[in-house]
Amino acid sequence: MKTLIKINENPNINMVGKIYEFIDPTKIYIPILTNTSFHKNDYVYKNNYYSDYISSISGYVSGSKKIFLNKKFVNALEITNDFKENSHIKRRKKKITNREELIDNLKRFCLFDLINKLDENKNNLIISCVDEEEYSINEFMRLSNNYDEILMTIDFLSKILKTKNITLAIKNTNAKSIKNVKSIIGSFPNIKIVLLPDNYLIGLKTNLCEFLNLKEDDSILFTTNEIYDLYTTSIKFKDITEKYVTISGDALTKSFLINVKLGTSLKEIIKKYCKIKEKEYNVYVNGYMQGVNVNKEDVIITKEINTIVINKNREDATECINCGACYKICPVNINPKRCYFNKVINPKCIGCGLCNYICPANIDLKKVVKGDMYEEKEN
Ligand code: SF4
Ligand code: SF4
Repeated sequence: MKTLIKINENPNINMVGKIYEFIDPTKIYIPILTNTSFHKNDYVYKNNYYSDYISSISGYVSGSKKIFLNKKFVNALEITNDFKENSHIKRRKKKITNREELIDNLKRFCLFDLINKLDENKNNLIISCVDEEEYSINEFMRLSNNYDEILMTIDFLSKILKTKNITLAIKNTNAKSIKNVKSIIGSFPNIKIVLLPDNYLIGLKTNLCEFLNLKEDDSILFTTNEIYDLYTTSIKFKDITEKYVTISGDALTKSFLINVKLGTSLKEIIKKYCKIKEKEYNVYVNGYMQGVNVNKEDVIITKEINTIVINKNREDATECINCGACYKICPVNINPKRCYFNKVINPKCIGCGLCNYICPANIDLKKVVKGDMYEEKEN
């Protein structure tokens, strides 16, 4: 492992501690990935799933649009909210006692990423409260606000998976989470808290296992928000219709966390909650370091989105001075400069953005190496 570095703080980012709530959007959008047919004014119930995406409200189909999802454009249905929250789905209430029941239950909520993590016969269960992107506070705030539910669910999960060692990993800078967890950790003697240095990429499974001195292939890693999703669906038996998203960046007068209905358009959130102090700015989905630069009109809050960064435009790139810094810092030993000038994607790239961060010539290397090219949608 290369030595991990701390990312320098941006003095122009002003993060406020308050959580905003936006749970009554006038419209939401649901990605439709299969050939399901819909007509204008069809009724959509809350908590119905369409190609693994939930309708977080009830209302009427009022149109469709192309949205940016997982690096490509897909069709999405536009639903106009009737504010009735009509749902006809009855969820099970019977306590889950084993892995098979847990998997069955998670399938009902289309949480396939979580199911894929439920490996048997692993000795170590690691819960990461690491917000990798410097100005994202989703994990930290989740643990600070829901520490009792999180600890209870970790205990539940470790019994289901029969894991021997349970570690809750928190950055040593997250004083509020640490204080809250320590106030009740005595009731969970099987859970060990480990404090991590505030270094970039410490939350990556390889790095975390190395820091904790645990074998990667004998470990299962969940984030605190994933544990909270398990709590909601498999202890409370409720659907997930909202999520935390950090909205930050140096083009904003303030950065904040917002609890928002799934399917809400970023444009509506920006209009209601953001004061942008710059005329020209860039929007990045899932962080400045690791995210993709997109057009705000195309972004809908789906389960895949945790952070939106609204930054001043990047300074223009200057000529490469052959300093070698991008190669020296790359954690997977790619030569980003070579890929950039030869215009080749390298599939080994993990998209960490360290090459861009370190480059004195301000060249957008990651965009080429990772293939994060954002194509404008076809009309
Ligand atoms: S973004 Fe890719 S090329 Fe750049 S430092 Fe990270 S892994 Fe290396
Ligand atoms: S860090 Fe930037 S300036 Fe230095 S070699 Fe890489 S591309 Fe060139």
